[in-house]
Amino acid sequence: MAKVKLSTSVSEFQNFIKQVYGPKNNRHYSVWDTLSNIERFAMRSLKGIRKHDTAKTKLNLLITLSWFMSFLNQLHINLEEKTWERFPYLCSYCASSPCVCKKIKVKTRRKPKINNQLKPKTLHGFQEMFQKIYPKESRTLEHAGIHLAEEMGELSEAFHVFQNNHSDQSFDQVILESADFLSCAIGVANSSKIEIAQELSKMYKKGCHVCHKTPCFCTFEETSQFKS
Ligand SMILES: [Zn+2]
Ligand SMILES: [Zn+2]
Repeated sequence: MAKVKLSTSVSEFQNFIKQVYGPKNNRHYSVWDTLSNIERFAMRSLKGIRKHDTAKTKLNLLITLSWFMSFLNQLHINLEEKTWERFPYLCSYCASSPCVCKKIKVKTRRKPKINNQLKPKTLHGFQEMFQKIYPKESRTLEHAGIHLAEEMGELSEAFHVFQNNHSDQSFDQVILESADFLSCAIGVANSSKIEIAQELSKMYKKGCHVCHKTPCFCTFEETSQFKS
């Protein structure tokens, strides 16, 4: 039976989602449908921020991440590798840690030097890395939420462009926006004191968090009407 462990890596979590939800996703959902489900739960998570309801933010953020992994699986994007290339323990824009984008006007994106020895081995390690690059003390939770919404829009936009021209260049943009989306989802978790790996390991002890099967046996209707 597939499960998520406390020490899960980003790739192991992505693979867990493939085992549990891959068969149903392939049968029932286009990549558009999956993208729309990421949006659906990301916005619910933001509602949790507005209502000061951390439990609501948390559950919806975890489900957002699960749909996000399904999206990446459908597109065959290796999130761990691509996130590390974009954020090698440094801000993807100013190439500093902590980020200095607010303090100094960096006009063009700086190319970061990648030291592979620093690469986090676990999802928890990636969460710690994003706290170091973008400390929660430097922004409010609302600000982190707005940034997540902004990145959600940019991911959608990149996918729209890719669907229009099917070029490798546009696909690369989808990859970059995916890494940015993860950084902002983790940013919301850091600002809300949500330990993602710990919460996922509680939620995914035994396959799907609703039907507890691997692969998931929930009906299409149950998934569509799921309230969290
Ligand atoms: Zn920066
Ligand atoms: Zn299920």
